[in-house]
Amino acid sequence: MLPLRTILSRSTKFLTDHGVPSPRFEAEQLLAHCLGMSRLDIYLQLDKPLEESELQTLRPLLKRRGNREPLAWILGSKGFYDDEFSVHSGVLCPRPDTETLVEVALQQIPECSDEPYFIADIGCGSGCIGLSLAKARPNVRLFAVDVSPEAISCTKENVDNLNLTDRVAVLKGRFFEPIPPHRIVDLVVSNPPYIPSHDLEECEPEVSIHEPRIALDGGADGYDVYNVLIPLAAERARKAVAVEVGIHQADTVRDIMAQSGLHNISIHADLGGIDRVVLGLV
Ligand code: GLN
Repeated sequence: MLPLRTILSRSTKFLTDHGVPSPRFEAEQLLAHCLGMSRLDIYLQLDKPLEESELQTLRPLLKRRGNREPLAWILGSKGFYDDEFSVHSGVLCPRPDTETLVEVALQQIPECSDEPYFIADIGCGSGCIGLSLAKARPNVRLFAVDVSPEAISCTKENVDNLNLTDRVAVLKGRFFEPIPPHRIVDLVVSNPPYIPSHDLEECEPEVSIHEPRIALDGGADGYDVYNVLIPLAAERARKAVAVEVGIHQADTVRDIMAQSGLHNISIHADLGGIDRVVLGLV
């Protein structure tokens, strides 16, 4: 039997050799996950001898991470905004940058109002954007829409986990098609695929090999989905449209919003100082 300390350093080396960023931190997370411990417990029990059975659960997970499968898929969840979201293979992992979209959208939603406020999250993936909004504001009613069956089942799981079933409809389809035409939509939020196709190959393997292309590939110049989504959203939303954008895309997306008849368009940076969200009012 080997002590936890040795397993941790061997796991870190394995991940380092496979080019995983933050190998020590990730080795700690994988070990903590397998042992049912917190990361702090790991530090308190570095001398604990590990059973062979415990190593047997760790090895396949390390191997998957060595193949650069996203850590969130292996752990089965990812923290985003105020909650932990289930994520499974085939679904885009929530990113911290996207929390900027939640913050910008929240400023549009009246606090302390009894009037329902209707939001459509188009291309909802794990559901993290729309569900964070619904969680933060009890007056929100959400349509979470995606074409991908994996995304639909992942969002449904998160709706259940967050006890939001009575305020959220999870709908499969393209853009606004599955939302009945008579239903009001106040705000549209979306993190559409926006990476230019040829740039995708240069992304880290988690993105270029594993995460779903349909959630990432924005066509030749990255704007294919904005060009369809924004005019439809501008027509459908009663109040506002807010979208995430990739690096250097904010100005072009602002122009698409202006051409679609939206007003008071504003650009918002993420915590890294990158223009990440474009908001237009109806
Ligand atoms: N921000 C993601 C990435 O760079 C892309 C998400 C998207 O295309 N919407 O990996």
